[in-house]
Amino acid sequence: MSELILEIKNLKKYFPVKGSKATFVKAVDGVSLNMAKGEVLGLVGESGCGKSTLVSTVLNLTHPTEGEVIFDGKNIYTLGKREMRETRKNIQIVFQDPFWSLNPRMLVKDIIGEPLSVQTKLNNVEILEKISELLEMVGLPKDGAYKYPHEFSGGQRQRIAIARALSLMPKLVVLDEPTSSIDVISQAQILSLLDDLKEKFNLTYIVISHDLSVVSYMSDKIAVMYLGKLVEYGKTDLIFNSPKHPYTEALFAAIPDINTDNIEDMKTLEGNIPSSINPPEGCRFHTRCQYVCDVCKLKEPELIKLNDGRLIACHRYKN
Ligand code: SF4
Repeated sequence: MSELILEIKNLKKYFPVKGSKATFVKAVDGVSLNMAKGEVLGLVGESGCGKSTLVSTVLNLTHPTEGEVIFDGKNIYTLGKREMRETRKNIQIVFQDPFWSLNPRMLVKDIIGEPLSVQTKLNNVEILEKISELLEMVGLPKDGAYKYPHEFSGGQRQRIAIARALSLMPKLVVLDEPTSSIDVISQAQILSLLDDLKEKFNLTYIVISHDLSVVSYMSDKIAVMYLGKLVEYGKTDLIFNSPKHPYTEALFAAIPDINTDNIEDMKTLEGNIPSSINPPEGCRFHTRCQYVCDVCKLKEPELIKLNDGRLIACHRYKN
């Protein structure tokens, strides 16, 4: 058994609807999954499926309505301020758009060096040495330390963001649409860099992306979310080669067409995602599912394990 780094247990995050004490947006509604050290998990689903809320709840940026997150053996919601600060060193995030996530008025050395000066006892000389190492690690010249973010290309800015995120050598890195704002050639280079760094430092990644080719390239396992629920979860090759949940099937149906590998562009899914304030009774996907039958409208399917090891929530399958 590989060592677990992250255990998410029945996590729920409900947001109250303005002006009502009894109505909630159920952004995440009972998600459980585990991650082993060194694993890459891809989170997929349309906008509004709950993947961003799931990640911000796991990062403890927002408190859960219910459930637990055990990171590196500790329940993060019971940690004191000092312990949480320590834990934060080990969980970092790389945002979608490095143009907005990097302070344009700071030199690169200060952007990358900030976590080191706040969270470590290194002196200025040691911090500068570390910054040079980090720049080299992400394939940027050392003299880049004395430039501003706007003096770099989009791909180079994302390398700066990666250097900053890895400055404290975290155990878990969340990659939130890591390549969506950069050109195609830089995208391939950034993916390859992230892959190399993962191997070199045994990093664990959570990858959020609308681009299914990014998710399939990066991930060992895939979690498919729909309206706050996990609907299918398992090994990447298994799910990509033979998706079983009708929602996953519809998401992946367009992959061979290079122009439609973005979830939002797909035409295979009819209709809009329903509101998570008042999700459909029974299976939440039943309003859009081509296989819907009577039981789907009445009874919510449980997440069950199939013989091939994947988890699935659909009445078409029995374990
Ligand atoms: Fe479709 Fe029914 Fe399965 Fe839901 S439970 S995905 S509606 S077949």
